Amino acid sequence: MAVLEKLTSQQAIDLENKYGAHNYHPLPVVLSRGEGVYVWDAEGEKYYDFLSAYSAVNQGHCHPKIVDAMVKQAQTLTLTSRAFYNDMLGRLEKFATEYFSFDKLLPMNTGAEAVETAIKICRRWAYAKKGIAENDAQIIVCENNFHGRTTTIISFSNDPVARANFGPYTQGFIKIEYDNLVALEDTLKNHDNIAGFLVEPIQGEAGVYVPSEDYLVKAKALCEKYNVLFLADEVQTGIARTGRLLATCGNCSCADKNCSGTPEVKPDILILGKALSGGAYPVSAVLANDDIMDVITPGSHGSTFGGNPVAAAVAIAALEVIRDEKLAINAYELGVIFREELNTYIKTSNIVKLVRGKGLLNAIVINDDKESETAWNICVALKENGLLAKPTHGNIIRFAPPLVMNKEQLMECVEIITTTLKAFEK
Ligand SMILES: *Cc1c(COP(=O)(O)O)cnc(C)c1O
Repeated sequence: MAVLEKLTSQQAIDLENKYGAHNYHPLPVVLSRGEGVYVWDAEGEKYYDFLSAYSAVNQGHCHPKIVDAMVKQAQTLTLTSRAFYNDMLGRLEKFATEYFSFDKLLPMNTGAEAVETAIKICRRWAYAKKGIAENDAQIIVCENNFHGRTTTIISFSNDPVARANFGPYTQGFIKIEYDNLVALEDTLKNHDNIAGFLVEPIQGEAGVYVPSEDYLVKAKALCEKYNVLFLADEVQTGIARTGRLLATCGNCSCADKNCSGTPEVKPDILILGKALSGGAYPVSAVLANDDIMDVITPGSHGSTFGGNPVAAAVAIAALEVIRDEKLAINAYELGVIFREELNTYIKTSNIVKLVRGKGLLNAIVINDDKESETAWNICVALKENGLLAKPTHGNIIRFAPPLVMNKEQLMECVEIITTTLKAFEK
């Protein structure tokens, strides 16, 4: 079989099943092309993508400006390692630190690597700056978190599927309930060895759990009170997905009218990935100010591919697209319409319990137990009707289309979703 011979969907599925490790359970659809909000399968069927590669493709599939930047840089210089300087990384560092209002950026490749990097910076800061005794630092994390798949990160997950038989686990994490300020303050009060608080502004993988309106602001204030770093994992929520540049608001360059009234939370350490490249290439980063980032010294951390010239060119283009196409304001406005439309449907329906989310990061909760196949079957039916989404945690379906969608397309998708759901009403 020649490498470039065209495969049918069934052939592609058979190959993955036979030769690939079975670490995913994909929906039975084989994609071979993407453009904007659409993807096409191997037989040429067209779908709306309502997952956007877990919010990596916020700028839409194969955005010409991002692809162009990637191709041009790939033809010029791809990798030097950081044993030498390259003439692209500094440009990204200047551009992104100004864009997000931090002093410094540390480039990595995947989200999990960026989280690991943030944990390392936080621990070093605890010893070098806060004066915590060696090897004694603790980081507070939240129940039902998702921060990636490395051994350290799964050590503080409470998802049995992600953890089972991967021990022994990394020490140094205290888990508290999400959206619980009392638990946070109690933990801060009762320990003098806390280095940081690592939190997702909205828990995406857990099922798009949006915390109370004042949670992040007050959690940040508590961190300041107890001299603890606030680490925001915005790998999924960041870069316009939730209707603002960052879900913590940060230096909002989207649309002022949507920011007024909601106080800004400035993380001490900001973790980005996914849409930082618009899905074209793995690019992640950690941002912090000098007094924190200066604990990282030559040789103390690194990555062969981190900060390579292609990644830098791609990330600059991806951030420019977010700004130039005003994707945060578009996500904000379409998100309001999406939840309104679904709430109208939900009033008439017994199959969906609720819709929740911010911007274009939303989820519906199916009125059936977690062990049921209903959400999966609905996603298979959505696929038959031309829209791709995936269940998370049994009975929850996340809806996160590319942010380059327009209102007509959104209304067509609402029609597909509600028509499909109607067929499952009891
Ligand atoms: C996806 C995700 C990660 C991990 O990113 P990878 O690129 O898959 O390693 C970390 N944190 C959050 C919140 C994510 O959604």
